[in-house]
Amino acid sequence: MGIVKKRRYQMESRDEPLEVIVRGTDVLNEPLLNKGTAFSLEERDALGLRGLVPPKVVELSGQVERVLENYRRKTDPLEKFIFLTSLHDRNETLYYKVLTENLMEMTPIVYTPVVGAACQQFGHIYRKNRGMYISMDDKGHIRDMFNNWNQEEIDIIVVSDGSRILGLGDLGANGMGIPIGKLALYVAGGGIFPSKTLPILLDTGTNNQELLDDPLYLGMNQQRAEDADYYELVDEFVQAVQDRWPKALIQWEDFTNNHAFPLLEKYRDKVLCFNDDIQGTGAVALSGLLGGMRMKKEKLSEQRIIFYGAGSAAVGIADTIVAGIMEESGMTAAESRKLFWLLDSLGLVVKDGPRALQAHKVPYARDEAHIPDLMGVIRAIKPTILVGVSGQGQAFTQEVVKEMHKHVKQPIIFALSNPTSKSECTAEQAYRWTKGQVIFASGSPFDPVRLKGKIYVPGQGNNMFIFPGVGLGAALCQASKVTDAMFYMAAKTLAEMVTEEELALGTVYPDLRKIRKISATIATAICRMAFDEGLAGIAEPEDIRKFVKTNMYTPEYPRYVAATES
Ligand code: NAD
Repeated sequence: MGIVKKRRYQMESRDEPLEVIVRGTDVLNEPLLNKGTAFSLEERDALGLRGLVPPKVVELSGQVERVLENYRRKTDPLEKFIFLTSLHDRNETLYYKVLTENLMEMTPIVYTPVVGAACQQFGHIYRKNRGMYISMDDKGHIRDMFNNWNQEEIDIIVVSDGSRILGLGDLGANGMGIPIGKLALYVAGGGIFPSKTLPILLDTGTNNQELLDDPLYLGMNQQRAEDADYYELVDEFVQAVQDRWPKALIQWEDFTNNHAFPLLEKYRDKVLCFNDDIQGTGAVALSGLLGGMRMKKEKLSEQRIIFYGAGSAAVGIADTIVAGIMEESGMTAAESRKLFWLLDSLGLVVKDGPRALQAHKVPYARDEAHIPDLMGVIRAIKPTILVGVSGQGQAFTQEVVKEMHKHVKQPIIFALSNPTSKSECTAEQAYRWTKGQVIFASGSPFDPVRLKGKIYVPGQGNNMFIFPGVGLGAALCQASKVTDAMFYMAAKTLAEMVTEEELALGTVYPDLRKIRKISATIATAICRMAFDEGLAGIAEPEDIRKFVKTNMYTPEYPRYVAATES
């Protein structure tokens, strides 16, 4: 029979020393506790570590230096990912110190695009457990399984079923890289405590034959479950979360549309949850458009908006803009939707089109003749705003952009598809084809463009501007739900953080390097809204911003003392 070691440690106290009941190598093997060479001599004695680490006590800053030296020596992005993952699994404080201080350099590794390659290789590069896996075979056991997770307090759960990982499709259980990566950004960018995050992968099978044929694949070797079984599992999962961690926010991540929309509709008013692909994307795009409106000194309600692509990102963005128009102008939702024209792979989305409409497109279906191509729709509508969310690289041709520019002096063009190769046009093309008059933003980063002596800085509509702040705010005030109005508020708050200097350079988003300040400001706005609308689960603090800032995690080592078993 194995020996069960007692664990007691108080995770987040900053002022008092932390009491730790585990000792010796157990401390070194627990990434949330480990300080490696940074344990002081007193701590080494108190925790039974004398002799287990090299004699020299190294400050956190010295450890950071060593990590960066090793990290930067690696040239292969996947090797960099593996290196950072190993650090994450060894010493979380050091990992988050390095990540927070080098966020611009490391976000493309821990999240898109490199996390995509890591997910594809997940079974081949797997090293150590992190997060929880719930498979179809676990039906009936989920609540019990949650007792296996040794943290009593969880703020944010990011959950995926691996069915639509980034633009890579069905990656089954390999999708676990996404909840892990996203939560790392929550911690680094939003100041959520690492111990209060929980990545979860719902393994409902995979239809990816390559994975099913791969002997190193780590998920269930079966086709995806039928809908009835699938929804039963998700329901049991949601109920179990409510029971074990009733304050936790559930973030739905990378589900295929046929499940993403129904799940959001089913749970959005019942439990604290949101879908970043739908609502987070919506808010970040709306924020960019509000920045564009500031530049043009116009209103959203005066625009004609074409969406190229009619999937979850498109409908999420359109719904959030509708909420913005309603707020700004007092128009109804139906009136606001009349300003939108959506195109899918068959052309303009119309009521009486070439095939039956998926439910999420119905509210935007136009009562007019079908037009099969983008050029035709642009000629007919003369849009002021064109948003690309189709995953079709180079779809905004010179002809398309010039035709749009013919009818509007300063067109707004957002080419949001990722990765860069899928972007509907590049920043350089958009500026060149409109002689520098376009207001441009993209999903993937583009370098500044120099045109006739002027520098244009394209904005990147990165979801990271929004979700950490929304999650932080909702978790801190223990909101009962996340509303559309909260996402509108997040978008508005972000747009207001763009400086006049940034607008003058053509940028509709603030500098991402200010992410912690941005997240604190958005979280403050979310909390204030929750308190005003009676949705908060705690009493209103006197100073909400101070409350938010003092409850944000910063990666610094705590001081430990040994506890006596009691
Ligand atoms: P999705 O699969 O749900 O939707 C894609 C849509 O594009 C579908 O409606 C499809 O019919 C349409 N489409 C495909 N081919 C087309 C064609 N030739 N012409 C017109 N429409 C076509 O995917 P999604 O989640 O909506 O994501 C779409 C894109 O948006 C992805 O590339 C993704 O990277 C990007 N995205 C960007 C951000 C961001 O910038 N913050 C956030 C989320 C998604």
